[in-house]
Amino acid sequence: MNFATIRPMDWQVLQVVHRLGPLPQHKLADHLGRQRSTVNGATQRLMASGWLQKVGQSGQGRGRPAILLAVNRAIGCFAGIDIAADELHLALVAADGHPMGRATVVLGEDRTLDMVLEQIDLALRGLLSQIDLGLKNILGLWAGINGAVDRLGNVVTCASLGWHNEPLGKLLTEKYETNVLVQGAATAMNAAAESLMGAGRDASSLAYYRAGQGISARFVQQGRPLAGATQRAGELGHVVVEPGGRKCPCGNRGCLESVASGPGIVAGVKELDRNDIPKRVLKAIDEKLPTQEIVHACFDHYKEIDTKPFSTLLYRKMNFIALGAAMVVAAYDPEVLVLGGYLFENNHALRDGVHRRLREMVLDWDLRNLKVVEGEVITQDRAVGGAAEVCQRFWANPRGVVAHD
Ligand SMILES: [Zn+2]
Repeated sequence: MNFATIRPMDWQVLQVVHRLGPLPQHKLADHLGRQRSTVNGATQRLMASGWLQKVGQSGQGRGRPAILLAVNRAIGCFAGIDIAADELHLALVAADGHPMGRATVVLGEDRTLDMVLEQIDLALRGLLSQIDLGLKNILGLWAGINGAVDRLGNVVTCASLGWHNEPLGKLLTEKYETNVLVQGAATAMNAAAESLMGAGRDASSLAYYRAGQGISARFVQQGRPLAGATQRAGELGHVVVEPGGRKCPCGNRGCLESVASGPGIVAGVKELDRNDIPKRVLKAIDEKLPTQEIVHACFDHYKEIDTKPFSTLLYRKMNFIALGAAMVVAAYDPEVLVLGGYLFENNHALRDGVHRRLREMVLDWDLRNLKVVEGEVITQDRAVGGAAEVCQRFWANPRGVVAHD
């Protein structure tokens, strides 16, 4: 980060413009309860350093039209990087929180921290150059990962990438010299979002069951998330459901996640005789489409009453996914069960199938009055959400930008 520091008084001016702008200068003085001359001095400094800019003129009333001031969107931006199991999602939002661009990068076979950092750097530079900014313009950076992260931004464990005790936060801070926030457990973020503003906003308890690249759950009661003793509550993806089954990146065999996540389903389909795989699914596999699209093609061709190998395989996978959901319901007894993650998104066949199987798997189904719903807060937007979060934090506490008295 390479910004001229701002005086505390100037920062107050900037914050008001950020909150209420665009504003004419005299209104600024009124809002702050300060002399116009003091505020004029501040706005001049902020314009000179590039934080404020003129954006047209106000109203038609009598007298001279006043120049309107706004935060200069081009001064810098906030970056959000969602590190998924096989993809990176990047998003930029401007200094004023306006979305500026996004990109997705497919990770190669090598998913070591060094290699992932290299790909982040390449993608970030590309994205920034599209809006004529550089690395020094990054005001804050958010990185999200599906794993356990400690307070200092170290990735304690991320099974899908095979990371253990990796200093992600420290390396990002050193490299980009900006404020970095690393958050783990995507499912926890999704559960929080759903209980706050999504499908569970009117419920006293919510369980979020996520099935996509991985499988996990989180529970929120009366607005409080249940984290567990080591932040792992709800990590049921690595419970072994098929002993001796498919190898999992965590080192075990037959974990729920290795069997029934998106990659687990695609791996199972690939093992079938090619003649048993529907043509459109084969095409998706041969063209190396993203896992998510292959899975959706699979469930488009799924028929529950069909006994052919393809539908039988998907039925087995669906049962494992339902089993995970049933364990969540039995363990947490929630008012609302949110089915999230790409396996459920736009996939009626799987959602309906899991719903039906749940009725058979869960004790006292009819007495529970459990609502099973689809997630409302879109999971692919985590990179944007993360960038927006560091943006909000910046305006509340602009570490490193405002000079201390
Ligand atoms: Zn595992």
